[in-house]
Amino acid sequence: MTAVPTHCPYCALQCAMWLHPDDGVAVEPRDFPTNRGGLCQKGWAAAELLDPGVRLATPLMRDRRDAPLRPVTWDAALDRIAAEVRRIRDAHGPDAVAVFGGGGLTNEKAYLLGKFARVALGTANIDYNGRFCMSSAAAAAGRAFGIDRGLPFPLTDVGTAGTVMLVGANPAETMPPLAGHLPRPGDGRALVVADPRSTPTARAATVHLQPAPGTDLALAYGLLHLVIARGLADHAYIAARTTGFEEARRVAAGYWPARVERITGVPASALETAVELLAAGRSRGGTVVLTGRGAEQHSKGTDTVHAFINLALALGLPGRPGCGFGSLTGQGNGQGGREHGQKADQLPGYRRIDDPGARRHVARVWGVDEADLPGPGLPARELLNALGTPGGPRALLVFGSNPVVSAPDAGRVQRRLAALDFLAVTDLVRSETAEHADVVLPAAQWAEEDGTMTNLEGRVLLRRRAVDPPPGVRTDLEIVSALARRLGHRDGFPADPAEVFAELRRASAGGVADYSGVRPDRLAAGEPVYWPCPAGGPPEGTPRLFADRFRTPDGRARFVAAEHRPAAEETDETFPCHLTTGRILAQYQSGAQTRRSPTLREAAPEPYVEMHPLLAERLGCADGDPVRVVSRRGTARAPARLTERIRLDTVFMPFHWAGEQRANLVTNSAPDPVSGMPEFKVCAVRLERDRP
Ligand code: SF4
Repeated sequence: MTAVPTHCPYCALQCAMWLHPDDGVAVEPRDFPTNRGGLCQKGWAAAELLDPGVRLATPLMRDRRDAPLRPVTWDAALDRIAAEVRRIRDAHGPDAVAVFGGGGLTNEKAYLLGKFARVALGTANIDYNGRFCMSSAAAAAGRAFGIDRGLPFPLTDVGTAGTVMLVGANPAETMPPLAGHLPRPGDGRALVVADPRSTPTARAATVHLQPAPGTDLALAYGLLHLVIARGLADHAYIAARTTGFEEARRVAAGYWPARVERITGVPASALETAVELLAAGRSRGGTVVLTGRGAEQHSKGTDTVHAFINLALALGLPGRPGCGFGSLTGQGNGQGGREHGQKADQLPGYRRIDDPGARRHVARVWGVDEADLPGPGLPARELLNALGTPGGPRALLVFGSNPVVSAPDAGRVQRRLAALDFLAVTDLVRSETAEHADVVLPAAQWAEEDGTMTNLEGRVLLRRRAVDPPPGVRTDLEIVSALARRLGHRDGFPADPAEVFAELRRASAGGVADYSGVRPDRLAAGEPVYWPCPAGGPPEGTPRLFADRFRTPDGRARFVAAEHRPAAEETDETFPCHLTTGRILAQYQSGAQTRRSPTLREAAPEPYVEMHPLLAERLGCADGDPVRVVSRRGTARAPARLTERIRLDTVFMPFHWAGEQRANLVTNSAPDPVSGMPEFKVCAVRLERDRP
């Protein structure tokens, strides 16, 4: 078989690669505008996931909670799920069965899962792990611009911008090929990084702003204050293209540099330098402001993203050539995963589920009565917290997600899963969540099935089948289709990805994320297609948004103002340090996949607690000593890693490991009131020396 062009199974950069199926499934980087022939360590090791030794190969089932999982036939496993769904639905109503999806699922899977929940199960309760990833950025972009596309311009625009600002993002470690687009020392461009840690990205910056965790909102208003005070705001742009500036100006007036320095710890001089660079970039190829999870995963995440959008609007960036505001999507299909209906409040086409017109359109495509479509369900955090409670879901079907490791306050999630009457997990590996399941279904993966993904630029990509799945493994679409049939829906749930994509295009027509004009032949040829791509429009869709107008009803972008407020949990005498968490180069998300890759396991075998040497001295521990990170919710264990690159009041833990090494045993699930995003990125902890 000849080499197959495809894309990486991991993050939202979706780097292009060749797969050589006849060569032990070898990976070779492929030139593409985003990765420009590069891959990170995870991409190079991606084929290791296809090894039968690391993945599930047969359905598993247990008859009682205290019995071990044992191999069973597909019929036995699917029959059991269908029987449990019917039993629980009959006893407790349709909302007692819930679905939890994932941001790594293809567009087709996300679409069919949303339809399966609303039509075959009749439940309102479907949400997905992307709620824990992009929801604050999505909520703010939707409100400010009328549309949420992570980058509203191709990534190559970042590569030509004179100034790039990154807030709470570390692409040098999380998406190394993306870092190739960033300004580099000596290339005449400027990089401004805001991060409590001196990450590899921050160390390459022209100026590094190192705010205390949870203070990015005040930082943004400090920058806006200076932009206005120095006469650097673009008042012609503000007048012509925005609304709400006066309120943002009023709030920004209260964030003079000395006050911002007191709140954030960032010196006023560094704020001044950052503002000069942001303003100067406009005449040097452009200025781009980008946020990541570090700014967004907070109980005030939506307001924080709005604050940086306000800054970008005041500088006149969005829609201007070479300039803009964006958010760096994390999960492989973090963009497409939030467009096609697996979100509690949405229908396909990124439509609101409570919009009567949207319900009418989608009901027509699905061939159901719109009155039978459920309304909004519980968002992810509330959904997980309600499992097994009186009136809450009694059964949960999980597809491609591992909340036992990846959800905040993970100990509580584990207890809620144990309280369920029934749990089924579909995954390619026997994840920590699968260990709690009554039925586990083995799913095919990226190189074994066709499917489309939408990368962080809103570009739709084709991931192709290069090898056959192992015997005994089925695709998620085949699984959903088989379950729907068992629940009485003989039609409407095809297992063929091309058929599902054709229906997805019809369902999305006229929506915010309109895919109706996305031609499969263009995707197969590797030609660019960016949504919105309405039928009858340009075949390449819309690479750049906002050139003439924003997608709000009046065509203007919105300033949305909010005051800084403390994190949901502040440090005190008992819990004197901030904990912040994040990703590292050789691991990905809950680690369920990457911890099974020999190459990546060797590169990053265990977690660590990054802390300042002076903090370690107070604790009486040396580099490598085992420590406990204790919060009001739980305790995580890992060796200490000493570095002066972190603030004295802050410790960092990567979140890719399981068991007692789970950073999310400690994190706070306090939600953002707008997006439902939990406060992953800051909570109060104390450190203790652990047993050796
Ligand atoms: Fe894969 Fe992301 Fe690494 Fe690219 S940067 S190779 S998409 S994990």
